[in-house]
This record gives sequence, C-alpha cells and structure tokens, in this order.
Amino acid sequence: MTSLTDTLKKITMKIDNLDVEHGYLVNSSGKILFKTTDNKERNVWIGDKLANLTSNVITDSTFIHNHPVNYFVGNIPVLSSLSVNDLATNAAYDMNATIAVDPVYIYTVKRPKSGYGKFVNRTFTKYYWDISDKLQDEMKKQILDGKLNIREYEENLEHLVAKQVCTHFGWIYSRTKNPYSDFKISLKGEVLQYADIPKWIKQSKNPNKKKLIESYRQKFMAVMNRNPELKEFYDYPKK
Ligand SMILES: [Zn+2]
Repeated sequence: MTSLTDTLKKITMKIDNLDVEHGYLVNSSGKILFKTTDNKERNVWIGDKLANLTSNVITDSTFIHNHPVNYFVGNIPVLSSLSVNDLATNAAYDMNATIAVDPVYIYTVKRPKSGYGKFVNRTFTKYYWDISDKLQDEMKKQILDGKLNIREYEENLEHLVAKQVCTHFGWIYSRTKNPYSDFKISLKGEVLQYADIPKWIKQSKNPNKKKLIESYRQKFMAVMNRNPELKEFYDYPKK
C-alpha cells in the first residue's frame, strides 16, 4: 500500500542529506512518475520531463527535491527555501505542490482551492526579486544594528521571501522542521574568519560596523585560544 505521505516520507529520508540535487515527481496515489538528477548541486530542470506528461497528470502531481547545504559563511550554513524557479515552475505547470527538503527543514508550496490564478512569469519574477531586495536590505540593517545575527539571516532570508511572495499570490506555503533528518546541523555559534565576513558588512558606512567586526574577531579568538593548533589560520587584521 502506498500513499502520497508514505512516498514523500521515504524520498525525504533518502535525499535530505545528499550533496547533489535529486528530484521526484509523485502522483496523488504516491506513485513515482519519474526521478531525475543532473548530478549538480543546484538546478534539477524538469521542464523537458513534464512536457511528456498530460496536464491532468501534472496537475495531480507533487515535485519533491533536496536542497544540498553546500554554502557556508564561516561555520554558518546557508539554508535555502523554495527558489524563484521552484515557485514559478510549480504555479506555471499548475502542480499540486512542490517540496524542497534539507537537513533542517521541509519547504512546501501547495495549490490553494481557488487555484494559482493567472500566472505571468515576468510579473511574478519581478515581485519575487523586489521582495528579496527589500528583505535583504532590512535584515542587513538589523545585523549592522546588532538586532539580528548572520546565522538567523542565512537560515531565514529565502524562507521569508518565499513566505511573503506566496502570501501575496494566495499560494499555500509552509516551512516545517525536517523530522526525518539524522544529520544535525548545529544552529548555534558563529565562527567567522575575517575573510568570511561579508563584503556588505566590510563596505558598510553604518557606524556599528567596527563593533560588529570586533565581536566576530573576539568569538574567533576565543575558538583559537581553545584550539592553539588552529592559530596558523588566524587571519584578522592586526588592530
Ligand atoms: Zn529547488
């Protein structure tokens, strides 16, 4: 006996920690219609494969794929929600849902009862990037003002963009903890070498910039002092 929930659970457990992207199209009975990977860390393109299916089949189907955690700022993992392309493909093909999984979260966008509405890619894409720019600016300012840390920013930026964009278009979006993951990414502590500190912080004119960089230097030095063998990596500019 298969059900959609069972199949999605099995796939999630199989792919959530992989370091290249894998995707599966599953119908509402839990049957896998195709699986795909191009063995790259990003960009599973399913347009060609969807073109072989009828619109009834696509409308009934859910696309699930993993988002490898391959980018770090210092020791901080960069987590990514459903991308602009994930959201656009989902609505443009009128799919039941699109799901992305990583070792920490499961991100889902679902068709609302009223449908996705008339999908215009240009309007959607522009809206997505406008929201993304706006949230980035706001969150960066909060970091420089000491009200947000880089970890929270890298964990939540794409999620907050996706959430706001889906809300605007009336699509059902959620992010839940991945209950199946056995790989636990630590979401605590920040250790950044000077080279890891983002350019937008180094180049900022915000008066708090020096204080912020100094706080990262101190956290870094605390780790160096506990692990003297790492001192050769010390790369903060001398004060
Ligand atoms: Zn994706």
